[in-house]
Amino acid sequence: MYNPNQDILETIKSKGNDETFKQVRSRERSPFSPFNTIVRGEVVQMMQKVHQARSPRSRAIDESFNAPLTTNEEKWLRNPNRLDYPGVDTIPATTMKKKGKAAAYTLLKFKDLHHFTEGRYKLKGSTMGAFYPLGKKKFKKEKRKIERNDGSTYEYTISTPTISYKPEIHISKESKKRENPSRHSHTIAHEVGHAIDHAISQRQVKEYIDKRDSKPQKHSKNLAAHFKDQMESVSNHMRGSYRLTKSEKESKYASLYKHHEQYRDSPSELYADLMSSMIMQPRATKRMVSPDLYLMLQNDMMGILGPKWKKNMKKKFKDAKYTIEEGMVIKK
Ligand SMILES: [Zn+2]
Repeated sequence: MYNPNQDILETIKSKGNDETFKQVRSRERSPFSPFNTIVRGEVVQMMQKVHQARSPRSRAIDESFNAPLTTNEEKWLRNPNRLDYPGVDTIPATTMKKKGKAAAYTLLKFKDLHHFTEGRYKLKGSTMGAFYPLGKKKFKKEKRKIERNDGSTYEYTISTPTISYKPEIHISKESKKRENPSRHSHTIAHEVGHAIDHAISQRQVKEYIDKRDSKPQKHSKNLAAHFKDQMESVSNHMRGSYRLTKSEKESKYASLYKHHEQYRDSPSELYADLMSSMIMQPRATKRMVSPDLYLMLQNDMMGILGPKWKKNMKKKFKDAKYTIEEGMVIKK
């Protein structure tokens, strides 16, 4: 019986193992993922032809999630639905970009964001994106007092905007110019992760003011107290893409980059990567984390974005009230 895949396998074998794969690992034990793997050469082109020959429907279903990855052609050809070949039937970069933008758009309409009081920072050096809880407008600090049921009082400071403001996500030009568009989507989704962390923390602060007696930590810090290992492991998947797509400018700022790597180990950075993975590839994330952590992340994402956030993937973001500004670098 004629098997077209058999021919392909013969050809691949005759070519030997040339430089087909380039995997960059941010750490020794970093697992193999679509975010840290670039596939080149004739072999991948052949795999792409096989994938293209499938019906549009089965291609779309296959590309809608990241299945476990393989670089073994024989295994993949036997079961393309259960396995993914990097760059062939993994989630396309365009879909990831739409997901990142849809999440950002949905999130920036979320009212609670207007209560954030955290400081702002500027895009500089190798920073690819930033989340500004208060946008760019001025605000003033005010002291407030709340009386508890037992008669004791609690004082806190809030920052009130003197004029209207809106939360913003800024993505640098550098990020948009990437060869690998998945990096760009990751940057957007990563900043969305920070915003979700803020929104949840803010809710917890409100609850505390109402009834608690010990001030809550930031949401990501609470989570890291229980799940740090898992958070680091998912973060390593996502970080691979940073190494692969490192620009000339970033290499020039090698010392800054080293610092960048260190700060990326903080709970809020780990959480932002985790949420980015949830937004981009929920099914792959589910395989990487424990069921209890997955449930919490799902609650976080749905609680802030709402269950229907993906419908925004079809939107053109031109007339969005809350805009995601791209290609904007703010200088000191
Ligand atoms: Zn970050």
